[in-house]
Amino acid sequence: MADTNEKKRKIAIDDDSPVYVDVRDKLNEVGPGFCLAKWTQVTMHLQLGHTHSCHHPSTHQISLKELKRNPTALHNTNFKKRRRKEMLDGQRPAECDYCWNVEDNSDRFSDRTFKSGENWSKPYMDEIKQLNWREDYNPKYVEVAFSNACNFKCSYCGPAFSSAWVQEVEKFGGYPTTDEFNDPKHLLYENKIPFKQTEANPYVDAFWKWWPDLYRDLHTFRITGGEPLMSQDTWKVLDYIIEHPDPNRKLNLAINSNLGIPDKLVDKFIEKIQRICDEDRVNEFVIFTSVDTWGEQAEYIRNGLQFNKFWDNCNKVLAKCPKVILTYMVTYNALSVPNYHKLIKGVYDLKTEYGSEDRYWNSATFLDTSYLRHPKHQTVQVLEPHWADKIFKDAQLIDFLGVPLFEKEYIGYSDVEIQKIKRTYDWMKSPIDEKALQTQRRNFGYYFRAHDERRGTDFCKTFPELEEFYRKCLEINKIKW
Ligand code: SF4
Repeated sequence: MADTNEKKRKIAIDDDSPVYVDVRDKLNEVGPGFCLAKWTQVTMHLQLGHTHSCHHPSTHQISLKELKRNPTALHNTNFKKRRRKEMLDGQRPAECDYCWNVEDNSDRFSDRTFKSGENWSKPYMDEIKQLNWREDYNPKYVEVAFSNACNFKCSYCGPAFSSAWVQEVEKFGGYPTTDEFNDPKHLLYENKIPFKQTEANPYVDAFWKWWPDLYRDLHTFRITGGEPLMSQDTWKVLDYIIEHPDPNRKLNLAINSNLGIPDKLVDKFIEKIQRICDEDRVNEFVIFTSVDTWGEQAEYIRNGLQFNKFWDNCNKVLAKCPKVILTYMVTYNALSVPNYHKLIKGVYDLKTEYGSEDRYWNSATFLDTSYLRHPKHQTVQVLEPHWADKIFKDAQLIDFLGVPLFEKEYIGYSDVEIQKIKRTYDWMKSPIDEKALQTQRRNFGYYFRAHDERRGTDFCKTFPELEEFYRKCLEINKIKW
C-alpha cells in the first residue's frame, strides 16, 4: 500500500541508498526526465472525469471521444502519451515540476527515483523503455474515486470531493474569504463539476469495461472518494474479488472510509473484508480512515463526525478483522494542535491492544500526519508562534512512544510516524511573509465566523485555547465581537 511502501522506502533511504542511486542512473540512461510512474501509476477522479500520473502534476480532463474508442484512456490519454514521449526523448515534462524542484535545488532523490524504484515500477523498467510512446499501458498502482458522495463536509475539503459540501454551497455560495473559498464558480473555471451519484457517468462505465483486464495486472488498488462506502461501485469491486474463481492474490487492496457511515454499512464492510481475508483473496487489506485530533475538536474540523461512534467503529474493525491494517490519515491543521497529544496516545493504545503477528506489519494501526497546505487560512502557520512549542512537545511524546527498531517484536511508533510530526514542527517554524500571514489570519476569522453561522457550531466553546487568537483575527476584520 502507499503508506506501508513508503515506510519501507524511508527506512531503506538511510542505509541502502545505493539502490536508489542505481535506479536514478538507469532512468538517466534514457533521459533526465524519464520516470516510470507516468506509465505505472494513476489516480483517476471519475466523478470529475479527470486523471493524472503521478498524483503530483495537476489533473487533466479525459476526452469522452478518446474514451469511446479506448476505455484505457482513463489512464492512457493523448495528453499523457505526449508527456511520455517527452520523457523518452530526453526532455522533462513541465507538469512534473514537483520533482524538478527537488532535483535542481538539492542533492536529494526526487519522487521520480522513489516511485520508479517501487516494486510496482522497477520490474517493468526494461519493458517500458522499449515501448512506443503511443502504446497503451496497464498501470500497476491505481487510485480511483468513483463519486463525490459523502456524508461529511470537512472544513478543508470542498464540493469536488463531498456531496454534502455541494449542498451547502448551493444554498449559501462560497465562503467570504478573500479567495472566495469553495465558491462554485471556481469548479466551473477548472472544469471540475462533479457528476451526481444519480447521473449516468461515462467515466465509470469505461472503468467497468477496462476492469477485468486491469485487475489481473494490479499490484495495488486503492478506492478513495467521497466516502467510498456510499458508492455502489465500491461494493461491486469487493463482490468481484469475492466471486472471482481465480483472484489476483498478489493484490494490495486499500479502501478509504470515514467510518462514520451507518452501522449497517460498517457491518456489511466487515463481512466482505472477512470473506476476502479468510480466503486469502488479496495479499494485504488496508483501510485508510481520517481524523485530525481528538473528541469534540475533531468533530468540529470534520463536520459530520461523531467521534465516539467513530472510535467504536475503529475498534470493531480491528477486533473483527485480524489481518487488516488501519491507517489514520491526519490532515494536521491549526485546529489539530491543542489536543493532538490525545490522538497520539489513543492510537498508541490501539497499537498495543491489536498488535499481532497475523498482520503483515506488527502494528495494527499507523498514524500518518501530513500537514495541511490548502486552504492556507487553516494551516498551522497562521497560529501565533508559541503554538510551535506544543507541536514540539507532541514530537517528544511520539518519540517517547516509539519503537527502538522497526521490527516485529516491538509495538509503538515507527520512525516515519515520528518524523512526520517533526516535519510539521519544522514547517511551522519556517519563515512566512508577514503580509500573507495577515491575509490568512483575516481569512481565518472570516471563515470560522461564517462556518459557525452556517453550521450552528461554536468555535469559542469548542476551542477555548484558541479563543483569544480567533478574537484577534476577527478584530483585524473589524468584525464586532
Ligand atoms: S517525474 Fe515526479 S511528478 Fe512526474 S510522474 Fe514522476 S514522480 Fe510524478
